[in-house]
Amino acid sequence: SRELRRAEMRLHRDEFDDHLVVVSGAGSGIGRETALLFAARGAEVVASDIDLSAAKRTAKEIVESGGTAHAYQLDVSDPAQVRVHVDAVLQAHGVPDIVVNNAGVGAAGDFLATPEEEFNRVLSVNLLGVVNSSRGFAAAMVERGQGGHIVNLSSMAAYSPGKGMSAYTTSKSAVFSFSDCLRAELAEHGIGVTTVCPGIVHTNIIATTSVSGVSPEEERELQQVGDRAYALRGYGPEKVAKQIVDAVRANRSILPVTPEARIQYHVNRLA
Ligand code: ADP
Repeated sequence: SRELRRAEMRLHRDEFDDHLVVVSGAGSGIGRETALLFAARGAEVVASDIDLSAAKRTAKEIVESGGTAHAYQLDVSDPAQVRVHVDAVLQAHGVPDIVVNNAGVGAAGDFLATPEEEFNRVLSVNLLGVVNSSRGFAAAMVERGQGGHIVNLSSMAAYSPGKGMSAYTTSKSAVFSFSDCLRAELAEHGIGVTTVCPGIVHTNIIATTSVSGVSPEEERELQQVGDRAYALRGYGPEKVAKQIVDAVRANRSILPVTPEARIQYHVNRLA
């Protein structure tokens, strides 16, 4: 199987040559793995993150393995910063072929116990971050007239409303709806829009939240992460990244990354 993987790497190595790929939240987790994978397949990568040193680590890893990458600091929730970022990227590297709107924050807690600013912050990052970035980059893609692809990170949580999930599920289901509308409008320009819905993936987000209400059968599918958090067995961010790349290649519109994750779960804020 190692031989197979090597063969697959060779087969796909150059498939994103001459492609510019922009990834937000590229400093960690799914964003980081997605940036690394596109780069391994020949793409030039713009890696942005609110945490500049994390973005730099991702870019450095790409450059050290022979790829091309640029690190930028960006808080996607700030529309002015996003405008500056979009202009800087267009100026320095050109119009992106693929934009992965990945930056996000986790959130869990009962609605009435969640401070207003905290709730609004989740919507600002998870929803408006995707909207702000789409506005800038999609406009440039449309103007260039050579198509492209936008990938927006939603979540299985979009399908799993429930206790403690008001901010996160609201933000992620809105990403889902926004992407459907964007897809309808951008299709005539040859720009695809993919909504990705990962289940429970082992990243920083899930490592700081906890999952309860899991049945024994479901438990067997899960591996414990830290004290009280679980991730689906075998679902690391590398696997999600691979599915994102495959989805872009196949121009898929909706990607439920872990459809088997029909788990009734309640996420509670860590005490
Ligand atoms: P996941 O991969 O599941 O989304 P992570 O927490 O590992 O979870 O990755 C999220 C990334 O998004 C982190 O690198 C984090 O710094 C970044 N991020 C969080 N908020 C913002 C923001 N407002 N703007 C840009 N990047 C952000």
